[in-house]
Amino acid sequence: MTADADQTTPGRRTVLRLAAALGATTAVGLFAVDRFASPDGTPPRAPAAASPTASPPAGPAAGPAPGAVPAAVPDGVAVPGAAGPQAAAGQAGAAGYRLQPMTAYTPPRFRRALPPVRVRPFLQVAPAGRTMVLTFDDGPDPRYTPAILDTLRRHRVRAMFFLCGEMADAHPDLVRRAAAEGHVLGNHSWSHPLIPSLRPSRIRGELGRTSEVVERLTGAAPLWYRAPFGAWNKHSFEIGAELGMEPLAWTVDTLDWTEPGADAIVGRVRAGAAPGVVVLSHDAGGDRSGTVAALDRYLPELLDSGYRLTVPRR
Ligand SMILES: [Zn+2]
Repeated sequence: MTADADQTTPGRRTVLRLAAALGATTAVGLFAVDRFASPDGTPPRAPAAASPTASPPAGPAAGPAPGAVPAAVPDGVAVPGAAGPQAAAGQAGAAGYRLQPMTAYTPPRFRRALPPVRVRPFLQVAPAGRTMVLTFDDGPDPRYTPAILDTLRRHRVRAMFFLCGEMADAHPDLVRRAAAEGHVLGNHSWSHPLIPSLRPSRIRGELGRTSEVVERLTGAAPLWYRAPFGAWNKHSFEIGAELGMEPLAWTVDTLDWTEPGADAIVGRVRAGAAPGVVVLSHDAGGDRSGTVAALDRYLPELLDSGYRLTVPRR
């Protein structure tokens, strides 16, 4: 799914190198600006819907102005355990309005305002205390996802899984398990294409189909999405918002897709650990045994040093 060592055609390699560069630019280039303030100097904006159960009626006018720049996930973060399967409860409202015409009647208390159309993804969460977010992309994969879920469960930690629709469709039990254990399921497209190379109708298909399969399996459509390779474009921001999703990138790339071994992955997490950091790893798309082994080492270390591993709240 990601830039695998086994994907060896020259054209594919070129695309993947480009995509990796795009991803690096997203993470590094925007980080210094976004970490403290929006480029125009205004503080980060709060989302329109402060509470999933008390949202105003959906509509473009309900959200921040188009082009609002996210700095950190504005709602802060949810405390693990306190919210439990709150993600599912909160998302039930999203399912109510998703893709319905504005004229359809839905009791306002069950509606969630559509998020604004962003111009760049979130790179971190609000650093309230020593919080960090672990994210796993491209799965689920029966070879690696169960072990990752086991480790997270052993430490009572919730994480985010950015699922590929075709993987979710092929491994529905893993999707259901991740949701049942309180993890947040995000949309990572259906087939992991390079989004900017696609027509808008294809982007809509990639994201829409994936949201549908997640909703069918768990009862709740994703509230977050992440572009494959971190390669976003304007259409993806527009379509993601139409589908009720906020874009989340990452702060620290473990580069586990290069299969560097567990030591290197642990080292990158240690070096990058800081309040508000979002960590990128992969539970599919290649040999992820290093990712699995690394998590088992760095997770207890982070917890011992006072970090709270959590998931963003919307
Ligand atoms: Zn990916």
